[in-house]
Amino acid sequence: MVATPIGNLEDITLRALRILKEVDLVAAEDTRHSRKLFNHYGIGTPLTSYFEHNEAVKAERIIDCLRRGDSVALISDAGTPAISDPGFQLVSRCREEGLPVKTVPGPSAVVSALSISGLAVERFAFDGFLPAKSKARRQMLAALKSEPRTTLFYEAPHRLLAALGDLQEELGADRRVAVARELTKVHEEMFLGTVAEALEHFGHGRVRGEIVLVVEPAAEQKPEGTVREALLKLQAETDLPPREIVKRVARQFGLSGSDVYRQSLELKDGEGE
Ligand code: SAM
Repeated sequence: MVATPIGNLEDITLRALRILKEVDLVAAEDTRHSRKLFNHYGIGTPLTSYFEHNEAVKAERIIDCLRRGDSVALISDAGTPAISDPGFQLVSRCREEGLPVKTVPGPSAVVSALSISGLAVERFAFDGFLPAKSKARRQMLAALKSEPRTTLFYEAPHRLLAALGDLQEELGADRRVAVARELTKVHEEMFLGTVAEALEHFGHGRVRGEIVLVVEPAAEQKPEGTVREALLKLQAETDLPPREIVKRVARQFGLSGSDVYRQSLELKDGEGE
């Protein structure tokens, strides 16, 4: 599985270039598209097509080649194969057949967008392409009301405003979003702001290019009451050991275990008085 550029032709690894030259066959999502990359780097390896609608049949032919001992590289039009691109069927069939699959890593639009978005990166979810129909899209976006991770989607440019409009309806105008457009290309743009600001920014003309939409996680729910009340409640309502109660309350309030432990000792002292 060989990753290729998401725009800028220089974004390809030395290993990817070597492998694409050395393998017996390269299966590509669109052979005409990939020929440009091949011409640019003087790669002469035979190309065969492997796209969404011939995946099942082509996977079997490729398996036959691999069984004969040939080496095959799979590439897609851009980025990492199988990520919102053809490739999964071939990988899973190879796994079933016990044929080795290796990664030749490189760019992927989702990770590239996340890393420069300015939104939280510790935890994230990737949900592929947003549904084209508004009802399904709104359902998906509504689920982000309490989502604690940054969520990323691929989106078509002509649907960006509709998606932002639905986001505003479902999550409010103040949730922040990043819109990564045309990454690594001449008209690269990274917009970061509230949904309302994004609608204002992109609402004035036709939106063009390839887009990753990044949605900020939901604000953490502040727990109600005090640490003391939370400790007493868990003590009264559960059979949890003291150590677990301290851990849970600490997590709830975003405090360190030792802080909460100290407060739990104060409770005990209070009991003795
Ligand atoms: N396999 C690819 C990857 O690893 O990123 C994704 C393929 S998917 C069919 C294509 C979508 O990825 C585009 O519609 C767009 O949402 C996103 N994308 C690809 N290249 C991009 C770029 N240069 N800038 C922003 N988004 C991009």
